[in-house]
Amino acid sequence: MKYRINRKTGDRISEIGIGSSYIAEAGMKNGVRALHCAAEGGINYFDLAAGDGAAFPIYGEAFRDIRKDIFYQIHFGADYSNGTYGWSLNPNTIKRSVDKQLRELRTDYIDYGFIHCQDEVSDWETYLKNGVYDYILNLKKAGIVKHIGLSSHTPSVILRVMDDAEIDMVMFSVIPAYDYGHGEYANGSVDERSAVYRRGEKEGIGISVMTPFSGGQLLDEKQSPFGRALTQYQCIRYCLDKPGVLTVLPGAQSVKEVETLLAYYSQPEEAADYSVIASFAPPQANGKCVYCSHCKPCPAGIDIGLVNKYYDLAAAGDAMAVQHYLTLEKNASDCISCGHCDSRCPFSVKQSERMHNIAEYMEQYTP
Ligand code: SF4
Ligand code: SF4
Repeated sequence: MKYRINRKTGDRISEIGIGSSYIAEAGMKNGVRALHCAAEGGINYFDLAAGDGAAFPIYGEAFRDIRKDIFYQIHFGADYSNGTYGWSLNPNTIKRSVDKQLRELRTDYIDYGFIHCQDEVSDWETYLKNGVYDYILNLKKAGIVKHIGLSSHTPSVILRVMDDAEIDMVMFSVIPAYDYGHGEYANGSVDERSAVYRRGEKEGIGISVMTPFSGGQLLDEKQSPFGRALTQYQCIRYCLDKPGVLTVLPGAQSVKEVETLLAYYSQPEEAADYSVIASFAPPQANGKCVYCSHCKPCPAGIDIGLVNKYYDLAAAGDAMAVQHYLTLEKNASDCISCGHCDSRCPFSVKQSERMHNIAEYMEQYTP
């Protein structure tokens, strides 16, 4: 397992986490075994927006002895009073639901207390007006909530809540279909969605990825909005390459499914190469580097994806990205204009030209 640091909180978070949409279907015995397998494989981050309230006692049993070693995202707005998931903005309902979850999880604290599923600005305004946000803040003062998160599918709402509140983690639907305007939750343009990634990276607000396989749709050519299937490993790599992303949270309900996720790290490089999405991307995505590294190897030894990521962030005002760029062993100024990357790039990026521009831009920061 590899880990990334949430710069806002200092938490060391596994790149692969687990979402809980369907773990309840496994039942207590198999659910506990799956969660133990996840923890043994180094997974330490778990989202608890479960599809069914029966998930919580499974977690409570599985992690009763290692609670301090794991992180929970708990959602203020996910209601389980009828057994299965419901969405609520009612403060009393939310309080009852959070109390119940804590009891069943056998814990007395919440690592990340999430402002839950705010897809419209009016949701956030209601949340502020009816006291749910204040309730989370009070729990934070009392030490019960350690950090505050936000889950949403809508870039404009995320940016607005980031303006209004102290957010330490955002749960966002980082999915190639959505990034390219396909699917039910494809909210925001390519540029608006990029703005969330860049702001997360710039301000050190971690991004956790909800449903990275889009509920399995992306893995099935009949359901995929692209009409073509991707693999789990392509989806995971796509998410982890986006600026700001700390962890992806696919669902898993068995030891076998957890082991399949953990096998991400033992795959050959080509297995996670997601450059095939270029054939589904809309024309406005053409010419924009998505940091996929398909153009590797560079004879000058430049990590082309990384150089481009730091450049895009720097150009958007991220001073830390400039520092990261300056510490690279090889950077754009090492480009020998061989053109290999131009011929390899499926997104039609004129990379050798871009390298020249990046080198020029970065000159102002070079000591
Ligand atoms: S230049 Fe093209 S192939 Fe290379 S990292 Fe960027 S998008 Fe991927
Ligand atoms: S053109 Fe520059 S960046 Fe691209 S492969 Fe050649 S040396 Fe590397």
